[in-house]
Amino acid sequence: MSEHKKLYDKVFSLIEQHDKWMTKTINLIASENVSSPAVRSAIVCDFRDRYAEGWPGERVYAGCTYIDQVELICIDLAKKLFRAEFADVRPVSGVVANLMMYTAMMQPGARMMALSIAHGGHISHAREDLGGTAGAVRGHKVRNYAFNEEEFNIDVDQSIKDIRSLEAEGKHTEFLLFGGSVFLFPHPVKEFRDVADEFGMHIGYDSAHVSGLIAAGRFQDPLREGADIVTASTHKTMPGPQHGLVLAKPEFADRVKQAAFPAMLSNHHLHNVAGLAIALAEMTEFGEEYADQIIKNSKALAQALYNRGWKVVAADKGFTESHTVLIDVSETPMKNGRTVEEELEKANIIINRNLLPWDKKMGRDYKKPGGIRLGTSEMTRLGMKEPEMDAIAELIHRVVMKGEDVKKIAAEVETFRKNYQRVQYAFDTQTPAYAHLRFK
Ligand SMILES: *Cc1c(COP(=O)(O)O)cnc(C)c1O
Repeated sequence: MSEHKKLYDKVFSLIEQHDKWMTKTINLIASENVSSPAVRSAIVCDFRDRYAEGWPGERVYAGCTYIDQVELICIDLAKKLFRAEFADVRPVSGVVANLMMYTAMMQPGARMMALSIAHGGHISHAREDLGGTAGAVRGHKVRNYAFNEEEFNIDVDQSIKDIRSLEAEGKHTEFLLFGGSVFLFPHPVKEFRDVADEFGMHIGYDSAHVSGLIAAGRFQDPLREGADIVTASTHKTMPGPQHGLVLAKPEFADRVKQAAFPAMLSNHHLHNVAGLAIALAEMTEFGEEYADQIIKNSKALAQALYNRGWKVVAADKGFTESHTVLIDVSETPMKNGRTVEEELEKANIIINRNLLPWDKKMGRDYKKPGGIRLGTSEMTRLGMKEPEMDAIAELIHRVVMKGEDVKKIAAEVETFRKNYQRVQYAFDTQTPAYAHLRFK
């Protein structure tokens, strides 16, 4: 057999192994989810091989008869679900949605405020010296909000003082960005609307992690609270394909559209637009029930670990109002998030290490941070409820605190997962959640 045929076969074999492994794991990655069989059927359609530059009905390419109709349905579903007057479903990811937002709302180099990474901000909001998208790609000068570590939220009074003193120095801030990747509690958006109006600033909200919760009317409602523009990933709490979207007040619609095409995108992954339309329809039907259970489960998982002696962040605030739980593991026998991540993976439990707000003070960095981040979106989708969260906490506890054999736990995880093999909160709940699809 030729060398490249061997590699060709190897790739298929690795894909199959991965898909099979996913049926045996407890996946608690907060930024991931499992899309429904219907979404996956949509994203393998012929759209994946086509182009459709521009807006539906005004395309630069021919052959878009059906593609246009699907995209218009997708836009319509997004507008209804997010209660938005304008939606652009073209960004191919959350970062591209953020770049569209920056392009639509600011001149290159303008000053903006965002959350620092240690406080849960995303690298796409960060400064140039950190390699962040806002700084490195757009030249934005990024200031970070003051942060209250006990409340695990933005310190409104101090941040407004900081904005005012920058203005007094003649350093105008053009844009206030909210949202982040460790997102436990709603951000204070409406608290900044007055100061934004006073100085002529626009407000943006990156809902990448929480867009599914927001679609369901849970967590918070940034467009009603004063945001001018909202970006999203469509594959975190929103269980769609890997894609993005932008919502905006109508006065920003033209600038957002321009930022998508011609500025940012040539093709915009039309198969994923089709998949997103399916996911939005399913969320319209099942989203409220799904979001409620995600939040109940994250609170239950946090409580179950707390009851076992774990140092869960924001314990006196009820741990979380989202899908995410943040835990300080620096005082466990494993000492840091990296070791916890590696050992749990051997036990078929997939989680993320994560920086804690106080890590820098303790001399820790992202390579061996003091924390872990857990998310309940994917396991909730498979039908798990509060009792299962307690069972998961016990499995995690036995690996990290009791040092039990990871192989033994891995086998127990596989058995535990046997009853949760189908996606719920979807029109088709019969096809196996991780069914492997291959055209022969
Ligand atoms: C995940 C994330 C992104 C990036 O989304 P992609 O779809 O992976 O590009 C942007 N912003 C925040 C806050 C995120 O958590």
